Amino acid sequence: MNTMKRLELRALSEQELTGVCTGLELKKFRAGQVFQWVQGKAVQTWEDMKNIPAQERLQLAEGLDFHPLELVREQRSHDGTRKYLFRLQDGDTIECVLMEYERKSARDRRTVCVSTQVGCAVGCAFCATGLGGFRRNLSPGEIVGQVLDITHHLRREDPEFNVTNIVFMGMGEPLLNYDSVIKSITLLNDAKGQNIGMRRMTISTSGVAPKIRQLARDNPQVGLAVSLHAATDEVRDALVPMNRRYPLKELMAACREYSDLTNRRLTFEVALTADTARRSQAEELAGLLKGQLGHVNLIPVNPVAETGMKRPLASELKTFAEVLVRSGLTVTVREERGTDIDAACGQLRRQWESES
Ligand code: SF4
Repeated sequence: MNTMKRLELRALSEQELTGVCTGLELKKFRAGQVFQWVQGKAVQTWEDMKNIPAQERLQLAEGLDFHPLELVREQRSHDGTRKYLFRLQDGDTIECVLMEYERKSARDRRTVCVSTQVGCAVGCAFCATGLGGFRRNLSPGEIVGQVLDITHHLRREDPEFNVTNIVFMGMGEPLLNYDSVIKSITLLNDAKGQNIGMRRMTISTSGVAPKIRQLARDNPQVGLAVSLHAATDEVRDALVPMNRRYPLKELMAACREYSDLTNRRLTFEVALTADTARRSQAEELAGLLKGQLGHVNLIPVNPVAETGMKRPLASELKTFAEVLVRSGLTVTVREERGTDIDAACGQLRRQWESES
């Protein structure tokens, strides 16, 4: 009997698979073939790996866990955004979202927003995921699996389908699952896998200052977005409880260290509600970001019934942006996607759990 510890197939690099093949006395080149089937072609069964002899597939299957995510529900927005609810092997569910952008002057962008944890311990005031608390971290294979399984499903409609961009902005705080996120980035970047450029991947954090510093040192060349949401500790404490652990002074020092070490521009995400889209808050924000390499992305909040948050008026949003631009900051307003399908993080999962 094979006593080898069962490893997660979708979490393995080609090099790690080579070690597995060597241990099973299989030819080394099988590792590259299996890696391509799993990470590149996004197959969901051993039987689909056509150039691997049946006996060798059995040997590999004995030592390796291979569990694609089960698609529980898919919602489609009129703007093309698709939201997926996947069930994991242990029965927990996670969400991810595919956003497609058609562009005239460049290749189309297909961005997947992936989850990194089941639930979340941070508990941001406007987020449906935080309401259910934290259950567990996702493994690298479960993170990569969201991209692979969306690719698998979409290739049935369009055999040429490829994901071009990744945002780690779904359920969970990515920097509290640092090692798995970094491993999944390496796998998604592999030329024999999904071959997604490092600069086409963005980690979004609620502000885990020590991990921002670590990311600066490791510098995997991915983008970093900081969910700032407010410019004073008083307001931010209430919106993003991570602020009580790493207040703005400490967070901004980590951000400065990040841009000094990597020479990369950060994105500062600012979700605006009817309560926070005030001129005084915009002025505080302009002061906080003075001299910082980065730009500001304003996001009018998606209404979540449980939190009672209201969207700001278009005129309030405009005034807020103007104050920032006048102070020399670059500002974008995030294009709203999938509002008709509750695409804000955690909403589909909560809706599904309340029905089941
Ligand atoms: S916004 Fe992100 S960090 Fe905040 S509670 Fe939701 S999932 Fe967690």
